[in-house]
Amino acid sequence: MTDWIKRDELAIWHPFTPLRGMEKPLMVERAEGVNLYTDDGKTIIDAISSWWVNIHGHSHPHLAQAIATQASRLEHVIFAGFTHEPAIRLAERLLQILPENQAKIFYSDNGSTAVEVAMKMAFQFFHNQGVEKRKIIAIDGAYHGDTFGAMSVGERGPFTSPFDPYLFEVDFVDFPNGENDEQVWQHFQEIIATNDVAAFIYEPIAQGASGMRVYDKKLLDRMISLAQAEGVICIADEVMTGFGRTGELFAADALETNPDIMCLSKGLTGGALAMGVTTCTQKIQDAYQSSDLMKTFFHGHSFTANPITCAVANASLDLLLTDECTANRARLNDRHTTFGKKIAEHPLVRNTRVLGTIIAFELNTDRDTSYFNEARHHLYPYFIEKGILIRPLGNVIYLIPPYIISNNELDFIYQTIFNFLEEYPTLIKNNAL
Ligand SMILES: *Cc1c(COP(=O)(O)O)cnc(C)c1O
Repeated sequence: MTDWIKRDELAIWHPFTPLRGMEKPLMVERAEGVNLYTDDGKTIIDAISSWWVNIHGHSHPHLAQAIATQASRLEHVIFAGFTHEPAIRLAERLLQILPENQAKIFYSDNGSTAVEVAMKMAFQFFHNQGVEKRKIIAIDGAYHGDTFGAMSVGERGPFTSPFDPYLFEVDFVDFPNGENDEQVWQHFQEIIATNDVAAFIYEPIAQGASGMRVYDKKLLDRMISLAQAEGVICIADEVMTGFGRTGELFAADALETNPDIMCLSKGLTGGALAMGVTTCTQKIQDAYQSSDLMKTFFHGHSFTANPITCAVANASLDLLLTDECTANRARLNDRHTTFGKKIAEHPLVRNTRVLGTIIAFELNTDRDTSYFNEARHHLYPYFIEKGILIRPLGNVIYLIPPYIISNNELDFIYQTIFNFLEEYPTLIKNNAL
Protein backbone atom coordinates (compact mmCIF):
# COMPACT_ATOMS: atom_id res chain seq x y z
CA MET A 1 0.00 0.00 0.00
CA THR A 2 1.47 3.31 -1.03
CA ASP A 3 1.51 6.40 1.08
CA TRP A 4 -1.08 7.97 -1.22
CA ILE A 5 -3.70 5.38 -0.30
CA LYS A 6 -3.20 6.11 3.41
CA ARG A 7 -3.48 9.81 2.77
CA ASP A 8 -6.62 9.20 0.74
CA GLU A 9 -8.18 7.22 3.58
CA LEU A 10 -7.34 9.90 6.13
CA ALA A 11 -8.74 12.78 4.10
CA ILE A 12 -11.39 11.55 1.64
CA TRP A 13 -14.88 10.04 1.72
CA HIS A 14 -15.60 8.24 -1.58
CA PRO A 15 -19.03 8.01 -3.26
CA PHE A 16 -21.14 4.83 -3.09
CA THR A 17 -18.39 3.19 -1.03
CA PRO A 18 -18.89 1.33 2.25
CA LEU A 19 -16.24 2.46 4.73
CA ARG A 20 -15.47 -1.05 5.97
CA GLY A 21 -14.61 -4.20 4.09
CA MET A 22 -13.95 -2.58 0.73
CA GLU A 23 -10.94 -2.96 -1.49
CA LYS A 24 -8.55 -0.01 -1.30
CA PRO A 25 -8.98 2.46 -4.16
CA LEU A 26 -6.53 2.17 -7.02
CA MET A 27 -4.25 5.10 -7.64
CA VAL A 28 -4.66 6.22 -11.24
CA GLU A 29 -1.78 8.21 -12.67
CA ARG A 30 -2.99 8.81 -16.18
CA ALA A 31 -5.41 7.51 -18.75
CA GLU A 32 -5.49 7.33 -22.51
CA GLY A 33 -8.06 5.82 -24.85
CA VAL A 34 -9.85 3.06 -22.94
CA ASN A 35 -6.89 2.48 -20.63
CA LEU A 36 -6.37 3.58 -17.04
CA TYR A 37 -2.75 3.38 -15.84
CA THR A 38 -2.15 2.88 -12.11
CA ASP A 39 0.90 3.99 -10.16
CA ASP A 40 2.00 0.39 -9.64
CA GLY A 41 2.21 -0.21 -13.36
CA LYS A 42 -1.16 -1.88 -14.04
CA THR A 43 -3.24 -1.19 -17.16
CA ILE A 44 -7.00 -1.42 -16.68
CA ILE A 45 -9.53 -1.23 -19.52
CA ASP A 46 -12.36 1.11 -18.59
CA ALA A 47 -15.25 -1.05 -19.81
CA ILE A 48 -17.87 1.15 -18.12
CA SER A 49 -16.68 4.54 -19.39
CA SER A 50 -16.00 5.70 -15.82
CA TRP A 51 -19.63 5.57 -14.66
CA TRP A 52 -21.02 5.82 -18.20
CA VAL A 53 -19.66 9.28 -19.00
CA ASN A 54 -16.69 8.76 -21.28
CA ILE A 55 -17.54 8.33 -24.95
CA HIS A 56 -14.39 9.24 -26.93
CA GLY A 57 -11.73 7.74 -24.66
CA HIS A 58 -9.68 9.30 -21.88
CA SER A 59 -7.45 12.37 -22.16
CA HIS A 60 -8.54 12.94 -25.75
CA PRO A 61 -6.26 15.56 -27.34
CA HIS A 62 -9.14 17.42 -29.03
CA LEU A 63 -10.96 17.79 -25.71
CA ALA A 64 -7.76 18.65 -23.82
CA GLN A 65 -6.98 21.37 -26.35
CA ALA A 66 -10.48 22.85 -26.06
CA ILE A 67 -10.16 23.01 -22.27
CA ALA A 68 -6.70 24.61 -22.41
CA THR A 69 -7.67 27.20 -25.02
CA GLN A 70 -10.85 28.23 -23.24
CA ALA A 71 -9.20 28.30 -19.80
CA SER A 72 -6.75 30.95 -20.90
CA ARG A 73 -9.43 33.11 -22.59
CA LEU A 74 -12.44 33.11 -20.22
CA GLU A 75 -12.52 30.55 -17.42
CA HIS A 76 -15.81 31.56 -15.81
CA VAL A 77 -18.36 34.31 -15.58
CA ILE A 78 -21.71 34.65 -13.83
CA PHE A 79 -24.44 33.48 -16.23
CA ALA A 80 -27.21 35.81 -15.06
CA GLY A 81 -26.87 39.08 -16.93
CA PHE A 82 -23.89 37.76 -18.94
CA THR A 83 -23.41 35.29 -21.74
CA HIS A 84 -20.55 33.95 -23.86
CA GLU A 85 -19.73 32.29 -27.13
CA PRO A 86 -19.12 28.69 -25.93
CA ALA A 87 -22.56 28.59 -24.23
CA ILE A 88 -24.38 30.08 -27.25
CA ARG A 89 -22.64 27.80 -29.74
CA LEU A 90 -23.32 24.73 -27.60
CA ALA A 91 -27.01 25.60 -27.17
CA GLU A 92 -27.44 26.14 -30.92
CA ARG A 93 -25.65 22.93 -31.77
CA LEU A 94 -27.64 20.89 -29.25
CA LEU A 95 -30.90 22.25 -30.63
CA GLN A 96 -29.80 21.19 -34.13
CA ILE A 97 -29.41 17.54 -33.10
CA LEU A 98 -32.16 17.22 -30.47
CA PRO A 99 -35.76 16.30 -31.37
CA GLU A 100 -37.16 19.20 -33.42
CA ASN A 101 -39.64 20.33 -30.75
CA GLN A 102 -36.88 21.21 -28.27
CA ALA A 103 -36.45 24.98 -28.22
CA LYS A 104 -34.52 26.15 -25.15
CA ILE A 105 -31.41 25.04 -23.27
CA PHE A 106 -31.08 25.46 -19.49
CA TYR A 107 -27.60 24.74 -18.12
CA SER A 108 -26.74 23.18 -14.78
CA ASP A 109 -24.05 20.98 -13.21
CA ASN A 110 -24.81 17.26 -13.51
CA GLY A 111 -27.48 14.67 -14.20
CA SER A 112 -29.25 15.11 -10.87
CA THR A 113 -29.49 18.88 -11.26
CA ALA A 114 -30.74 18.44 -14.84
CA VAL A 115 -33.57 16.33 -13.34
CA GLU A 116 -34.26 18.83 -10.52
CA VAL A 117 -34.50 21.63 -13.08
CA ALA A 118 -36.84 19.54 -15.25
CA MET A 119 -39.25 18.84 -12.41
CA LYS A 120 -39.22 22.39 -11.13
CA MET A 121 -39.81 23.66 -14.67
CA ALA A 122 -42.80 21.31 -15.00
CA PHE A 123 -44.41 22.17 -11.65
CA GLN A 124 -43.96 25.90 -12.13
CA PHE A 125 -45.33 25.63 -15.68
CA PHE A 126 -48.70 24.84 -14.08
CA HIS A 127 -48.24 27.16 -11.11
CA ASN A 128 -47.60 30.14 -13.42
CA GLN A 129 -50.95 29.45 -15.07
CA GLY A 130 -52.79 29.19 -11.76
CA VAL A 131 -53.27 25.44 -12.16
CA GLU A 132 -52.58 22.94 -9.36
CA LYS A 133 -51.27 19.55 -10.41
CA ARG A 134 -49.85 17.39 -7.63
CA LYS A 135 -48.92 14.01 -9.10
CA ILE A 136 -45.85 12.87 -10.88
CA ILE A 137 -45.57 9.45 -12.51
CA ALA A 138 -42.37 7.42 -12.63
CA ILE A 139 -41.45 3.85 -13.49
CA ASP A 140 -40.41 1.24 -10.91
CA GLY A 141 -36.67 0.73 -10.82
CA ALA A 142 -36.00 4.25 -12.09
CA TYR A 143 -32.80 6.07 -11.26
CA HIS A 144 -32.77 9.83 -11.77
CA GLY A 145 -29.99 10.91 -9.43
CA ASP A 146 -29.10 11.38 -5.77
CA THR A 147 -30.53 14.79 -4.82
CA PHE A 148 -33.88 14.82 -2.99
CA GLY A 149 -36.16 15.51 -5.94
CA ALA A 150 -34.30 13.03 -8.12
CA MET A 151 -34.40 10.42 -5.34
CA SER A 152 -38.14 10.99 -4.95
CA VAL A 153 -38.85 9.94 -8.53
CA GLY A 154 -36.45 7.01 -8.29
CA GLU A 155 -36.76 3.47 -6.99
CA ARG A 156 -37.25 3.35 -3.22
CA GLY A 157 -34.78 0.86 -1.80
CA PRO A 158 -31.71 0.39 0.37
CA PHE A 159 -30.04 3.50 -1.05
CA THR A 160 -32.96 5.79 -0.26
CA SER A 161 -34.34 4.23 2.94
CA PRO A 162 -32.69 6.71 5.38
CA PHE A 163 -34.40 9.51 3.44
CA ASP A 164 -37.76 7.93 2.55
CA PRO A 165 -39.71 10.05 5.07
CA TYR A 166 -38.47 13.21 3.35
CA LEU A 167 -39.15 12.20 -0.26
CA PHE A 168 -42.29 13.50 -1.97
CA GLU A 169 -45.03 11.14 -3.07
CA VAL A 170 -44.82 9.71 -6.54
CA ASP A 171 -47.14 7.36 -8.45
CA PHE A 172 -45.03 4.46 -9.68
CA VAL A 173 -46.10 2.11 -12.45
CA ASP A 174 -44.45 -1.30 -12.66
CA PHE A 175 -41.50 -1.74 -14.97
CA PRO A 176 -42.91 -3.10 -18.27
CA ASN A 177 -41.12 -6.45 -18.49
CA GLY A 178 -42.90 -7.77 -21.58
CA GLU A 179 -45.28 -9.94 -19.56
CA ASN A 180 -47.08 -7.24 -17.59
CA ASP A 181 -47.17 -4.54 -20.29
CA GLU A 182 -50.96 -4.55 -20.53
CA GLN A 183 -51.34 -4.08 -16.73
CA VAL A 184 -48.78 -1.31 -16.76
CA TRP A 185 -50.73 0.42 -19.54
CA GLN A 186 -54.02 0.04 -17.62
CA HIS A 187 -52.49 1.42 -14.42
CA PHE A 188 -50.89 4.31 -16.31
CA GLN A 189 -54.26 5.22 -17.87
CA GLU A 190 -55.92 5.16 -14.43
CA ILE A 191 -53.39 7.57 -12.95
CA ILE A 192 -53.63 9.93 -15.94
CA ALA A 193 -57.43 9.87 -15.59
CA THR A 194 -57.18 11.45 -12.11
CA ASN A 195 -56.46 14.67 -14.00
CA ASP A 196 -54.01 15.61 -11.27
CA VAL A 197 -50.76 14.67 -13.01
CA ALA A 198 -48.14 17.31 -13.71
CA ALA A 199 -45.43 15.17 -15.21
CA PHE A 200 -44.32 11.74 -16.31
CA ILE A 201 -40.59 11.11 -15.95
CA TYR A 202 -38.83 8.12 -17.51
CA GLU A 203 -35.52 6.79 -18.79
CA PRO A 204 -36.47 6.20 -22.45
CA ILE A 205 -36.18 2.61 -23.76
CA ALA A 206 -33.64 1.49 -21.15
CA GLN A 207 -33.26 1.97 -17.42
CA GLY A 208 -29.59 2.26 -16.48
CA ALA A 209 -29.04 1.79 -12.77
CA SER A 210 -31.77 -0.84 -12.38
CA GLY A 211 -29.57 -3.09 -14.50
CA MET A 212 -29.60 -1.84 -18.12
CA ARG A 213 -33.18 -3.05 -18.46
CA VAL A 214 -34.70 -2.50 -21.90
CA TYR A 215 -38.45 -2.13 -22.36
CA ASP A 216 -40.92 -1.86 -25.23
CA LYS A 217 -40.62 1.44 -27.06
CA LYS A 218 -44.10 1.11 -28.60
CA LEU A 219 -45.60 0.99 -25.12
CA LEU A 220 -43.53 4.02 -24.12
CA ASP A 221 -44.77 5.87 -27.21
CA ARG A 222 -48.37 5.05 -26.23
CA MET A 223 -47.76 6.32 -22.68
CA ILE A 224 -46.19 9.56 -23.91
CA SER A 225 -48.95 10.16 -26.47
CA LEU A 226 -51.71 9.68 -23.91
CA ALA A 227 -49.93 11.79 -21.31
CA GLN A 228 -49.38 14.65 -23.75
CA ALA A 229 -52.97 14.48 -25.00
CA GLU A 230 -54.04 15.03 -21.37
CA GLY A 231 -51.64 17.93 -20.85
CA VAL A 232 -49.12 15.97 -18.78
CA ILE A 233 -45.51 17.08 -19.25
CA CYS A 234 -43.28 14.25 -20.41
CA ILE A 235 -39.73 14.40 -19.08
CA ALA A 236 -37.21 12.16 -20.84
CA ASP A 237 -34.21 11.53 -18.63
CA GLU A 238 -31.56 10.91 -21.29
CA VAL A 239 -28.66 11.38 -18.89
CA MET A 240 -27.46 7.82 -19.62
CA THR A 241 -29.03 7.22 -23.06
CA GLY A 242 -27.99 10.52 -24.67
CA PHE A 243 -25.09 11.21 -27.04
CA GLY A 244 -25.07 7.96 -28.95
CA ARG A 245 -25.21 5.46 -26.11
CA THR A 246 -28.19 3.60 -27.53
CA GLY A 247 -26.87 3.80 -31.09
CA GLU A 248 -29.01 6.76 -32.14
CA LEU A 249 -27.85 10.20 -30.97
CA PHE A 250 -30.72 10.18 -28.46
CA ALA A 251 -33.11 7.42 -27.39
CA ALA A 252 -35.88 9.83 -28.44
CA ASP A 253 -34.75 9.32 -32.05
CA ALA A 254 -35.98 5.73 -31.88
CA LEU A 255 -39.44 6.83 -30.67
CA GLU A 256 -42.41 8.23 -32.59
CA THR A 257 -43.17 10.79 -29.90
CA ASN A 258 -41.03 13.68 -28.69
CA PRO A 259 -40.70 14.58 -25.01
CA ASP A 260 -41.60 18.03 -23.65
CA ILE A 261 -38.48 18.23 -21.50
CA MET A 262 -35.16 16.40 -21.75
CA CYS A 263 -32.36 15.88 -19.21
CA LEU A 264 -28.80 15.46 -20.44
CA SER A 265 -25.40 15.02 -18.80
CA LYS A 266 -22.82 12.17 -18.72
CA GLY A 267 -21.71 11.96 -22.39
CA LEU A 268 -22.45 15.66 -22.95
CA THR A 269 -18.85 16.74 -22.31
CA GLY A 270 -17.37 13.50 -23.60
CA GLY A 271 -17.00 12.64 -19.93
CA ALA A 272 -14.31 15.26 -19.30
CA LEU A 273 -16.11 17.77 -17.07
CA ALA A 274 -19.37 17.87 -15.14
CA MET A 275 -22.34 19.51 -16.80
CA GLY A 276 -26.11 19.11 -16.91
CA VAL A 277 -28.56 20.40 -19.48
CA THR A 278 -32.33 20.56 -19.33
CA THR A 279 -34.05 21.30 -22.63
CA CYS A 280 -37.68 22.24 -23.17
CA THR A 281 -40.21 23.13 -25.82
CA GLN A 282 -41.26 26.70 -26.52
CA LYS A 283 -44.64 25.91 -24.97
CA ILE A 284 -43.01 25.20 -21.61
CA GLN A 285 -41.02 28.41 -21.68
CA ASP A 286 -44.05 30.42 -22.79
CA ALA A 287 -45.63 29.85 -19.37
CA TYR A 288 -42.77 31.92 -17.96
CA GLN A 289 -43.13 34.82 -20.43
CA SER A 290 -44.57 37.48 -18.17
CA SER A 291 -43.82 40.87 -16.71
CA ASP A 292 -44.89 39.41 -13.37
CA LEU A 293 -41.56 38.78 -11.61
CA MET A 294 -43.10 35.95 -9.63
CA LYS A 295 -43.32 33.94 -12.85
CA THR A 296 -39.53 33.90 -13.18
CA PHE A 297 -37.78 30.54 -13.04
CA PHE A 298 -35.69 31.18 -9.92
CA HIS A 299 -33.10 28.47 -10.34
CA GLY A 300 -29.36 28.62 -10.98
CA HIS A 301 -25.99 27.33 -9.87
CA SER A 302 -22.74 29.18 -9.28
CA PHE A 303 -21.10 27.43 -12.21
CA THR A 304 -24.05 27.45 -14.62
CA ALA A 305 -22.75 27.29 -18.22
CA ASN A 306 -19.10 27.39 -17.20
CA PRO A 307 -17.23 28.42 -20.39
CA ILE A 308 -14.54 25.72 -20.10
CA THR A 309 -17.21 23.06 -19.68
CA CYS A 310 -19.20 24.44 -22.62
CA ALA A 311 -16.02 24.47 -24.73
CA VAL A 312 -15.27 20.83 -23.99
CA ALA A 313 -18.90 19.89 -24.70
CA ASN A 314 -18.57 21.62 -28.09
CA ALA A 315 -15.36 19.71 -28.75
CA SER A 316 -17.10 16.47 -27.79
CA LEU A 317 -19.89 17.23 -30.29
CA ASP A 318 -17.23 17.73 -33.01
CA LEU A 319 -16.15 14.12 -32.43
CA LEU A 320 -19.63 12.71 -31.83
CA LEU A 321 -20.92 13.96 -35.18
CA THR A 322 -18.12 12.44 -37.28
CA ASP A 323 -18.79 9.45 -39.54
CA GLU A 324 -16.04 7.67 -37.66
CA CYS A 325 -17.97 7.93 -34.38
CA THR A 326 -21.19 6.73 -36.00
CA ALA A 327 -19.30 3.79 -37.52
CA ASN A 328 -17.72 2.96 -34.16
CA ARG A 329 -21.12 2.82 -32.49
CA ALA A 330 -22.43 0.52 -35.22
CA ARG A 331 -19.34 -1.66 -34.89
CA LEU A 332 -19.78 -1.90 -31.12
CA ASN A 333 -23.40 -2.90 -31.62
CA ASP A 334 -22.42 -5.63 -34.12
CA ARG A 335 -19.75 -7.02 -31.85
CA HIS A 336 -22.00 -6.97 -28.77
CA THR A 337 -24.74 -8.70 -30.74
CA THR A 338 -22.44 -11.50 -31.88
CA PHE A 339 -21.01 -11.98 -28.38
CA GLY A 340 -24.50 -11.76 -26.87
CA LYS A 341 -25.69 -14.65 -29.06
CA LYS A 342 -22.68 -16.69 -28.06
CA ILE A 343 -23.07 -16.32 -24.30
CA ALA A 344 -26.88 -16.48 -24.36
CA GLU A 345 -26.48 -20.24 -24.71
CA HIS A 346 -24.35 -20.49 -21.60
CA PRO A 347 -26.24 -22.14 -18.72
CA LEU A 348 -25.05 -19.43 -16.32
CA VAL A 349 -26.43 -16.62 -18.46
CA ARG A 350 -29.95 -15.30 -18.77
CA ASN A 351 -31.69 -12.25 -20.24
CA THR A 352 -28.93 -11.06 -22.52
CA ARG A 353 -29.76 -7.68 -24.02
CA VAL A 354 -27.94 -5.40 -26.41
CA LEU A 355 -28.95 -1.80 -26.98
CA GLY A 356 -26.64 0.29 -29.14
CA THR A 357 -23.26 0.33 -27.42
CA ILE A 358 -24.52 -1.42 -24.27
CA ILE A 359 -24.57 -5.14 -23.56
CA ALA A 360 -25.93 -6.64 -20.34
CA PHE A 361 -26.80 -10.08 -19.07
CA GLU A 362 -27.75 -11.67 -15.79
CA LEU A 363 -25.76 -14.28 -13.96
CA ASN A 364 -28.10 -17.23 -13.66
CA THR A 365 -27.38 -18.22 -10.10
CA ASP A 366 -29.48 -19.26 -7.13
CA ARG A 367 -27.30 -17.19 -4.83
CA ASP A 368 -28.56 -13.92 -3.42
CA THR A 369 -28.47 -11.53 -6.37
CA SER A 370 -29.29 -8.22 -4.72
CA TYR A 371 -26.99 -5.26 -5.17
CA PHE A 372 -25.39 -6.23 -1.88
CA ASN A 373 -24.70 -9.83 -2.76
CA GLU A 374 -21.32 -11.37 -2.19
CA ALA A 375 -20.72 -12.24 -5.82
CA ARG A 376 -20.83 -8.60 -6.80
CA HIS A 377 -18.01 -7.73 -4.44
CA HIS A 378 -15.94 -10.60 -5.75
CA LEU A 379 -16.68 -10.17 -9.44
CA TYR A 380 -15.24 -6.69 -9.34
CA PRO A 381 -11.76 -7.72 -8.06
CA TYR A 382 -11.79 -10.78 -10.35
CA PHE A 383 -12.02 -8.54 -13.41
CA ILE A 384 -9.73 -5.84 -12.01
CA GLU A 385 -7.13 -8.52 -11.51
CA LYS A 386 -7.46 -9.38 -15.21
CA GLY A 387 -7.11 -5.71 -16.12
CA ILE A 388 -10.78 -4.85 -16.76
CA LEU A 389 -12.99 -2.37 -14.92
CA ILE A 390 -16.61 -3.52 -14.72
CA ARG A 391 -19.11 -2.70 -11.95
CA PRO A 392 -21.87 -5.30 -11.86
CA LEU A 393 -25.30 -4.19 -10.64
CA GLY A 394 -26.39 -7.11 -8.46
CA ASN A 395 -26.19 -10.13 -10.75
CA VAL A 396 -26.21 -7.96 -13.89
CA ILE A 397 -22.91 -7.80 -15.72
CA TYR A 398 -22.80 -5.05 -18.31
CA LEU A 399 -20.39 -3.30 -20.63
CA ILE A 400 -20.82 0.33 -21.61
CA PRO A 401 -17.41 1.21 -23.08
CA PRO A 402 -16.09 4.35 -24.78
CA TYR A 403 -17.04 4.19 -28.48
CA ILE A 404 -13.39 4.16 -29.56
CA ILE A 405 -12.65 0.80 -27.93
CA SER A 406 -10.83 -1.43 -30.44
CA ASN A 407 -11.92 -4.87 -31.61
CA ASN A 408 -8.92 -6.42 -29.87
CA GLU A 409 -9.79 -4.75 -26.60
CA LEU A 410 -13.39 -5.90 -26.93
CA ASP A 411 -12.33 -9.46 -27.72
CA PHE A 412 -10.13 -9.49 -24.63
CA ILE A 413 -13.09 -8.40 -22.46
CA TYR A 414 -15.48 -10.90 -24.08
CA GLN A 415 -12.95 -13.71 -23.65
CA THR A 416 -12.40 -12.80 -19.99
CA ILE A 417 -16.15 -12.85 -19.37
CA PHE A 418 -16.37 -16.21 -21.09
CA ASN A 419 -13.49 -17.59 -19.01
CA PHE A 420 -15.17 -16.27 -15.88
CA LEU A 421 -18.39 -18.10 -16.74
CA GLU A 422 -16.42 -21.31 -17.31
CA GLU A 423 -14.57 -20.93 -14.00
CA TYR A 424 -17.59 -19.77 -12.00
CA PRO A 425 -18.74 -23.20 -10.66
CA THR A 426 -15.19 -24.01 -9.51
CA LEU A 427 -14.72 -20.56 -8.00
CA ILE A 428 -17.93 -21.02 -6.02
CA LYS A 429 -16.98 -24.53 -4.91
CA ASN A 430 -13.60 -23.35 -3.69
CA ASN A 431 -15.20 -20.39 -1.98
CA ALA A 432 -13.07 -18.13 -4.16
CA LEU A 433 -16.15 -16.01 -4.90
C1 LIG B 1 -26.41 8.99 -13.76
C2 LIG B 1 -27.82 9.32 -13.96
C3 LIG B 1 -28.41 10.45 -13.35
C4 LIG B 1 -27.66 11.30 -12.34
O1 LIG B 1 -26.59 11.96 -12.91
P1 LIG B 1 -25.41 12.50 -11.96
O2 LIG B 1 -24.57 13.31 -12.87
O3 LIG B 1 -24.72 11.29 -11.44
O4 LIG B 1 -26.05 13.31 -10.88
C5 LIG B 1 -29.70 10.76 -13.65
N1 LIG B 1 -30.42 10.01 -14.50
C6 LIG B 1 -29.90 8.93 -15.12
C7 LIG B 1 -30.74 8.17 -16.08
C8 LIG B 1 -28.59 8.54 -14.86
O5 LIG B 1 -28.09 7.45 -15.45
